[in-house]
Amino acid sequence: MSESLAQRLSGVRNQIKLAAEKAGRKADEITLVAVSKTHPAALVSEAVEAGAVVFGENKVQEAEGKIAEIKNVEWHLIGHLQSNKARKAVKLFDVIQTVDSIELAERLERICLEENRQDLKIFVQVDLGNEETKSGVSETDLPKLLEFIGNCKCLKLLGLMQIPPFFEEVEKVRPFFRRLREIRDELLPDGKLSMGMSHDFTVAIEEGATHIRVGTAIFGEREYK
Ligand SMILES: *Cc1c(COP(=O)(O)O)cnc(C)c1O
Repeated sequence: MSESLAQRLSGVRNQIKLAAEKAGRKADEITLVAVSKTHPAALVSEAVEAGAVVFGENKVQEAEGKIAEIKNVEWHLIGHLQSNKARKAVKLFDVIQTVDSIELAERLERICLEENRQDLKIFVQVDLGNEETKSGVSETDLPKLLEFIGNCKCLKLLGLMQIPPFFEEVEKVRPFFRRLREIRDELLPDGKLSMGMSHDFTVAIEEGATHIRVGTAIFGEREYK
């Protein structure tokens, strides 16, 4: 028999607690973002009943129906945001974790002003792996982007987010988590850190993650059509 969603969620919570203890942190400093991409609204409901309150989706289009259906939870966009989807994203999401350019920040700020959205919470996505295929601002361009956002009226910067390169061996990811924390300490002392997924969130917590984005460990394997 496979575990139920409620059991998997409670298993994840337990691992969060243990990792936090190991790092001398409190589990309630860590926000669990349940990544529901590819899964239907019915499964999101099940997660809500099991106590999940924050959800992550990586596509605006796919999230739309679920957000309409599931109320009273917080929705985070964790996938790359194309400029032509920015307005819809502003209308749908509570938090956009993937701001990675001045152009996108500028567009979001303008849309917020037009739509009368006073405060849009965002993270800046940083790419420390220099991977051509990944989105995220480089370390070099980060200060300019932070400065730009600091001058925006509507964008409220919560912190930094990253999707590090994938390694089977989680210890190889640790330096990326650590580096992001160092950058945060230097540039954004009160900032949050969104890092860590199903296979490496305990290491991310040890390195200071405040938001972990966990899909598979809660919802099971994804099937892509
Ligand atoms: C899918 C996704 C996750 C969750 O990945 P799992 O390995 O299923 O936990 C986390 N972050 C982002 C940006 C994702 O796209």
